[in-house]
Amino acid sequence: MYIQKFMRIVHIAAEFAPIAKTGGLGEVIVGLCRELTKQPENQVEVIIPRYDHIELAKLPNTRMEIPDFKCIGYSNTMWNSTVEGCNLHLLEPRHPSGYFHRGRIYGCEDDLTRFIYFSRAALEYLKEKNEPIDILHLHDWHVSLCAPMLKDLFKEIKVSSLVLSIHNLEYQGKCAPVDLDAIGLDGQSYLTADKLQDDHPSFPTSINLLKGGITYSDAVVPVSPSYAQEILTPKFGFNLDATLRKCRSKITGILNGIDETLWDPSHDPHLKVPYCQSSVLRGKIEVQKEFQLKPTGPWVGAVTRLVPQKGPELIEEALQKTIEMGGSFLLLGSSPFPTIQAHFNQLKQKYQNHPQVFLEYNYNEPLAHKIYAALDYLIVPSHFEPCGLTQLIGMLYGALPIVHATGGLKDTVFDCENSQIPIHKRNGFTFSEPTKSAMNDTLKRAFRLFSAEASTFHSLVRRGMESDFSWKNPTKQYLKLYRKLIKLKSKTGQNNPKSDDPSLCKHPLNIMPNNCRK
Ligand code: ADP
Repeated sequence: MYIQKFMRIVHIAAEFAPIAKTGGLGEVIVGLCRELTKQPENQVEVIIPRYDHIELAKLPNTRMEIPDFKCIGYSNTMWNSTVEGCNLHLLEPRHPSGYFHRGRIYGCEDDLTRFIYFSRAALEYLKEKNEPIDILHLHDWHVSLCAPMLKDLFKEIKVSSLVLSIHNLEYQGKCAPVDLDAIGLDGQSYLTADKLQDDHPSFPTSINLLKGGITYSDAVVPVSPSYAQEILTPKFGFNLDATLRKCRSKITGILNGIDETLWDPSHDPHLKVPYCQSSVLRGKIEVQKEFQLKPTGPWVGAVTRLVPQKGPELIEEALQKTIEMGGSFLLLGSSPFPTIQAHFNQLKQKYQNHPQVFLEYNYNEPLAHKIYAALDYLIVPSHFEPCGLTQLIGMLYGALPIVHATGGLKDTVFDCENSQIPIHKRNGFTFSEPTKSAMNDTLKRAFRLFSAEASTFHSLVRRGMESDFSWKNPTKQYLKLYRKLIKLKSKTGQNNPKSDDPSLCKHPLNIMPNNCRK
């Protein structure tokens, strides 16, 4: 019988929290990798770009791992560090375009070129290392090109199975075939329906990087079970639904966890008065004082990117409705869309010095923690939501979620007034359509509960705070998937020379008899 014990798992991604984070992606990579790392039989590594804002000198155990390795003729340096308990490789291209010397992670005109280069350079590094990999785990469009490159161009890298996680299908990485030529591929040869040709009927000459990841990977993991179903439909499939339906047998939805060491109100360095379930009321009052608002009702708010996906028009509506009903509204968010940002700037002017409103538009981790702690209700009116972390964080901080029931929100928030849901699962409020009227009706229900049924409200708050949203369960599911893939490959013998070949056992753990793989 085949028993896989030791596993070398390599993640390639654009983000890793807290040193390179713009949203959920970075948090998910660190949470999953840290949990995987806890099991000694897993050798876990993560490769991310070395962005210029990352101060290597401040990271623990930093060393220059490879001073110079080439990618399409350009030099690169690989740094290695232990961050948040994870073995992190930071890839620094010495390319004249200064790809990761931009003072930001995304939002450059040449984002596609930057991440296409990074994808190839990451594989050049793995080739140079020449150590067998059991699972190569890619995340989102940024590194999806690794999948076709691995199969077509880097056959010598010994990878048993390739996994792609889809954190958000909306972002696909569309480019021209010449962009692939630029890193030594024959772009035109990938422009076919069964390879990387974009599925949108208007863009037949475009390459779609995420499609490449989906097509060439052995398993595709959307970040919640409901989202895994939704993306098979034209409504949520962003024109990739047909491709996804074709390979539905390799799709498994796995809900994200959250890093409970980062998100713990009882040990939160950003809170002057940390609190737990028994002191939640006092803890909230203390942090609310810092905002100097004077509501007569509950504190409602959101911590979010202000992009169309997140329903900015509904967030504005929630703000107005909350004020009208006597609550206070806190919003931390910013928008990469100038028109949306301009609109929210106007709102800030309009509500300047308003005793019920606090609006802040930047990326501010400490403030995010304070806002979660201050809120009674966290609103997430997203039109679609692959998983969503803020509703989970909100619950751990004693804020009941009010959400549009879609994707991961549907999988984690269960309406407290829906008699068809078992009582022990009810933990917030949901609305089934992302419309102003549906959301407002739900807000009204939430306000009613807060003022008229305080004991029910508080028992729901406690239930949320007691929830286990840790990475333990999701990691078990990922490990189950990894093992299934490896077992399948070992049976079909399809994989490249495998790391369970004793002659390929390079890692010290592999040398130990009990850790050999059969
Ligand atoms: P997405 O990844 O789509 O942005 P998620 O809900 O999965 O949404 O994750 C959002 C994460 O980013 C949460 O940890 C949230 O606290 C954080 N976040 C979002 N906006 C800000 C901000 N302006 N400042 C600080 N943290 C933010």
